[in-house]
Formats: sequence, structure tokens, C-alpha cells
Amino acid sequence: MLSEQQVLIVGGGHVGLSFALLLAHHGIASTLLEKNSYPTISPNDDQTRSHYLDSRNTALSRRTVQIYEEIGLWSELQSHACRIDAVQISEQGSFGRAQLNKEDEQVESFGQVMENAWLGRKLLLAAQEESLITIIDNANVTAVEQQKAGVTLRFNYYDTDEHEQELQASLLVACDGRDSTIRPLLNIGTTTYDYKQTAIVGVVQTDKPHEHVAIERFSPAGPLAVLPLTDPEGDGNDDYQKGYRRSVVWVCPTGEETQYLEDDAHFLQTLQKAFGQRAGTFVAAGRRGAYPLTRVLAKQQVDGRCVIMGNAAHTLHPVAGQGFNLCMRDAHVLAQMISAQVLKGADIGDPTLLKRYEKSRQTDQKRVIRFCDAVVHGFTHPNPAIKLARNVALIAFDKLPNIKPLIANYAMGLKS
Ligand SMILES: Cc1cc2nc3c(=O)[nH]c(=O)nc-3n(C[C@H](O)[C@H](O)[C@H](O)COP(=O)(O)OP(=O)(O)OC[C@H]3O[C@@H](n4cnc5c(N)ncnc54)[C@H](O)[C@@H]3O)c2cc1C
Repeated sequence: MLSEQQVLIVGGGHVGLSFALLLAHHGIASTLLEKNSYPTISPNDDQTRSHYLDSRNTALSRRTVQIYEEIGLWSELQSHACRIDAVQISEQGSFGRAQLNKEDEQVESFGQVMENAWLGRKLLLAAQEESLITIIDNANVTAVEQQKAGVTLRFNYYDTDEHEQELQASLLVACDGRDSTIRPLLNIGTTTYDYKQTAIVGVVQTDKPHEHVAIERFSPAGPLAVLPLTDPEGDGNDDYQKGYRRSVVWVCPTGEETQYLEDDAHFLQTLQKAFGQRAGTFVAAGRRGAYPLTRVLAKQQVDGRCVIMGNAAHTLHPVAGQGFNLCMRDAHVLAQMISAQVLKGADIGDPTLLKRYEKSRQTDQKRVIRFCDAVVHGFTHPNPAIKLARNVALIAFDKLPNIKPLIANYAMGLKS
């Protein structure tokens, strides 16, 4: 049985683990339930890395990096982070082009690209080493009940015949992903939109070093992002240290993905055609994964003493690399509000406080959702007049002095 001022977190992905660590930073205890079993990892085993061309990656905004700095985790993470010094935006078959440079915007970088495996491993290790965090994996949540003074969660274990167990806390935060179990248990519905697009994600090698430039390119098939990556060390390939490794997110109409997944040569040729020589020649590709893209928005993010967070609250199109970064800003704000309650000796699951949290996040969330959709729909519209308008907009964006810092701040997650 937990004490009243504890938090239950359901879902131990990157958002659930980060939220637990944010709470611990404020001295607040939490119990995190994850349905899968976590691998056993040792703090000394830093060799566990993805293969050179085999990883999924996330672009972390400047704000997300600041949050990890604040909780003392960035020093652990940064060895596998690749800085983004410039962002190029262009469209296949068009003359418009825009570029953001860190020197012009007077920033250290626009963000950092990190392997998901590395981020997950470091978050899990930090959570396992933190005495304020209790981790229960293999957990099958069966019921959530709310009372006036607390919330009760029932679960059993997937891998044993043990009887159902019960946990109580002041507050429950569901970070259990797009297909959340907690959302329906709380009778919270969703609005969904099928983009009818699939993201193909992989790592490629080019014959030209990336020089820390991220490239966003729009093609008739869909948007394409190519991001710089760090070089894994220690496996004897000299090319690894030269910055030829890049992460690719290639979006195509759903149904067309098989050809890009199975045939390396065809995938590389298609990238080359869409990109020209901007990134040099694409010479090798690793295993690709496919992610059908649907926007899922919870109709409400707070119910009584329960908060819906992360992809469970808003699953977005990955075109602008905003999803996880938005979740981190949500998590940071909620952790701060809970901490202020603790300092006042007040109830951390107070439904009025949680409603205030929900309201405070609306502007940022709506802006990011609108931005992602505008990019997806605006840049894939085939109408020639709209295409011309896009070109003019890209040129204007590149030339007008006041727009760039604004957009750069949005992309870095520094304005909400
Ligand atoms: C192709 C692609 C590229 C992306 N690139 C970027 C990017 O560059 N930058 C960016 O900011 N965002 C990016 N995103 C978005 C980002 O990946 C997500 O926002 C982020 O992973 C959400 O994390 P989460 O922890 O909320 O959800 P998830 O990663 O889905 O984690 C949910 C966790 O909950 C667990 N779980 C589920 N159900 C239960 C249950 N009933 N009980 C207990 N546990 C449960 C799951 O096992 C899992 O561990 C990208 C997304 C895609 C698809």
C-alpha cells in the first residue's frame, strides 16, 4: 500500500520513465507499472549499442535537452547525441529553399539527435538506481477506481499466477502510449485521424559527411527528414568516425511501404531521386521499420485524480519531430505543479490542480498539433497554385529577418 502523497505511473516508455525521474528530482516518490518485462542492464555495460546502420532515433529539441540538464541526466546522455547546427527545408521539383543556421539564430544548437535504444537504456538505468522510484514490470492493469481522497489500481503479473494486487495513491498518470489501456478504463474517448501514410524509419550512410545539418525535404510521396547521427565507436570501421551516418524518416502513402522495406537498392535510389545531391550519395541502408501514422488525441487529459500524458494524450505525425518534445514539456510542467503542492503540504491529486495543469498545456499542445498538420497537408497538396505559394513562402521565410527566430524558437520548443 502506498502512502497518500505518492504517484502511480502506468507505462514505462520514454515519457513514463522521464516523468518518474522529474518527480524524483523534486523529491517525490512514484511507482511505475510497465506491461513488458524490462531487460536486465548493468551500469558498466556501455557497449550495448545499436549496429552502425540499425537504430531508431529521436530529435530532441533544445528545451528537452534543458529539461534533462535540469535533472542531471544530460551528462549521461550526451555522449551519444548529435548536434543539429543547421536545418535546411526544400521541396522536390521546386525552387524555394530555406535554411536556419545556429550562428544567425545565436543558439548553441537547434537540438540533438539520439538513438532511442540509448535514451531508453539511460532512462531505465537512472530510474532503477533512484530510491524514490519503484518499478513493477510485467504488470497487467485490470482496474482503476477513483475515490474522493485517492485512486486505487488493481493489477496482476503476466508471467505468474499470483492473485490480483492493489495499489493506492493520490494521483495516477497514464503514460501507456497511443493504444492506452487506462484511457478507456476512465471512459475517456479519442478523436483519431488516419493520415493514410506510413513512416519508414532507418539509418543510411552517405559519402558526404553530414556536418550537423538536418534536412527536411518534401516530395510528392510525402515528407522526408534526414538527420545527423553520432558514430558508434569500437567496431573497427574507420568510416564510423567521419559523420556519414544519418537517420531517415521517409513518409509514403500506406500500401507502398513494402517496396522500401524489402529492397535496399530501391530504397536508396528513391532517396537519391527525392534528395538530389544535397546529402551526397546514399551508399548503404540498414534495416527499416514501418509505422502507420494516425493522429490520436484524448478528448480530455484529466479525469478526477488521473492524468493522461505522452502518446496516450496526443499521438502526432512525426514530420516535424515534435511528439516526444511536447510530451516532455507536459511532464515538466506537471512535475513542477505537483512539487509546488508538496511544498504547500497540499493534496497532489487535487482535481482542481490537475484541471489547471490541463488548461495550462492547451496553447502549446494546440500550436504543435496545428503546426504538424499544416506541414503534412500544406506540403503534400498537389495543386500547382498551392505549390507556387509554398515556394514563395519558403523564399519569404529565408529572406524575412523576423520570421526565422520565431520558427526556430518553436522548433526548439522554447516558445509555447
Ligand atoms: C517514426 C517516428 C519518429 C518520431 N520521431 C520523433 C522525433 O524525432 N522527435 C520527437 O519529439 N518525437 C518523435 N516521435 C514521437 C515519439 O516517438 C513519441 O512521442 C514517444 O515515443 C511517446 O512516448 P510514450 O512513452 O508516451 O509512448 P510509448 O513509447 O508508446 O510508450 C508507452 C509505454 O507504455 C507501456 N504500456 C502500454 N500499455 C500499458 C499498460 N496497460 N500497462 C502498463 N504499461 C503499458 C508500453 O509497453 C510502453 O513501454 C516519433 C514517432 C514516430 C512514429
